[in-house]
Amino acid sequence: HELLAGQFTAAVRNARAYAEERARAEALAELDRAKTAFFANVSHELRTPLTLLLGPLSDTLAAAGTALPDDVRGSLTLALRNGQRLQRLVNDLLEFVSIEAGRASAVRVETDVPALTAELAGVLRAAAERAGLRLSVDCPPLDRPAYVDPRMWEKIVLNLVANAVKYTFVGGIDVSLRADGDSLVLTVADTGVGIPRAELPLLFERFHRGSGTAARSREGTGLGLALARELVTLHGGEVTATSEPGVGSTFTVRVPFGEPDAPAGGPAVPSP
Ligand code: ADP
Repeated sequence: HELLAGQFTAAVRNARAYAEERARAEALAELDRAKTAFFANVSHELRTPLTLLLGPLSDTLAAAGTALPDDVRGSLTLALRNGQRLQRLVNDLLEFVSIEAGRASAVRVETDVPALTAELAGVLRAAAERAGLRLSVDCPPLDRPAYVDPRMWEKIVLNLVANAVKYTFVGGIDVSLRADGDSLVLTVADTGVGIPRAELPLLFERFHRGSGTAARSREGTGLGLALARELVTLHGGEVTATSEPGVGSTFTVRVPFGEPDAPAGGPAVPSP
């Protein structure tokens, strides 16, 4: 009897612990849903007034720019720049919300990834050169078709190359794309300020910003790399970084060559 009683007590204890754990997990999931909904609502509420504010501001500057007194033009330009920063932050937050809610998926289409990558890096060449930096691109054609979501690929490349420009003060940036087995490999290498070893594990965390003075001297939200990682993950790939403080950093994105996605609604004829 004692043995049975002992077993019974243990079973009750286990059942109780299990129920408590489930309740905790459900409460956490509910909290997570509430947080996501909150972000989504706030971001949406911010987006419309921002658009209505920035549109006329940039139209006015474009139309009357040179006719305005210097100090007025300076203030309006500053307001526009900061408004656009806020708009980027809101858009990044909304993008996270939709990824978290499972609404975002990579729509892979056959894409000339080397040409697209070179074009995107080229967009930032002027900014690099203005900062006295070299930006070189090595993206030879691939020997077979590659399938990526071009809109997402654009964000991945622009985030990494913009960071390289932002956190490099002398030297330059090398962007390259090549095939490695079944993967496409993008590398963005810079001769910048580098990342302290202790910060490497935090690099792709949301809102992480470098602690060094060189890193802090640049504007940022700490969302760029986190978003890049989410987008790479949606492609079934991974992004990694190596770095040496004072020498430079290299970011490597590896995604499968991929296949075209089935059109929405799936195949017309269900397989048996
Ligand atoms: P942000 O640049 O807006 O701060 P990111 O998520 O793009 O946010 O980057 C997070 C942090 O990682 C940056 O604050 C910076 O400290 C560091 N970092 C990113 N890219 C580089 C780079 N190429 N070189 C040195 N540090 C970098």
